[in-house]
Amino acid sequence: MSGITIKSSSEIKSMRYAGQILVEAKKILFNLVEPGITTIELDTIAESTIRKLGGIPGFKGLYGFPATICASVNEEIVHGIPSKRILQEGDILSIDIGAIVDGMNSDSAFTMGVGQIGKDEKDLIENTKKSLDLGIAQVKSGARVGDISFAIQSYAEGLGYGVVKKYVGHGIGRELHEEPQVPNYGPAGRGPILREGMAIAIEPMLNLGHWDTQLKPDGWTVVTADGSLSAHFEDTIVITENGSEILT
Ligand code: MG
Ligand code: MG
Repeated sequence: MSGITIKSSSEIKSMRYAGQILVEAKKILFNLVEPGITTIELDTIAESTIRKLGGIPGFKGLYGFPATICASVNEEIVHGIPSKRILQEGDILSIDIGAIVDGMNSDSAFTMGVGQIGKDEKDLIENTKKSLDLGIAQVKSGARVGDISFAIQSYAEGLGYGVVKKYVGHGIGRELHEEPQVPNYGPAGRGPILREGMAIAIEPMLNLGHWDTQLKPDGWTVVTADGSLSAHFEDTIVITENGSEILT
């Protein structure tokens, strides 16, 4: 991880454009997900969309990751590798996607149902998104990273969800992962102070069961230790003079 960096206005402009590419790619992927499609098909379309819009896939080749998106199904939390796995009615799918423009990264994720899903699944997805929004609401110059962490954890645990601890949000810019770490748990009023020009990716991962995780033998895919379902939402946010701007 690089240290905390303050972005210039031209760097923010590039991140903003990278973010817009992700917004477009997410929309396309959202509309394609249905029973019968494979995660590798989604990956191929994600890559061509990013490149067509003038970006570079942010994850492909990073740390050796082989694809444009992370596609994590059901009990998979993050870092699932796209494959010939066919999505089934009732599955939930998390897509994590990154783009680079002029050397600057943006990073975003969402979870959605495949066809019709159950109430627990729907609630998990909605509440994970809500926890992200509550975290984002804390972002402003002078706030502390812990304010975000606490907002997410207190909401999620109040509803009985397990908050993943091993994987956290992060600063973002020239590197996908910069300092500071942005955990989804911990006390308010602690941690690094947010300043204008910093950019962070906030990314709560909530489990229907316990928070503990396991790594699959492929060395990438992170799953819930108890096999329960998991959801993930992420946005890239820049701290502005008056608050924050969501780039994705
Ligand atoms: Mg991500
Ligand atoms: Mg991230």
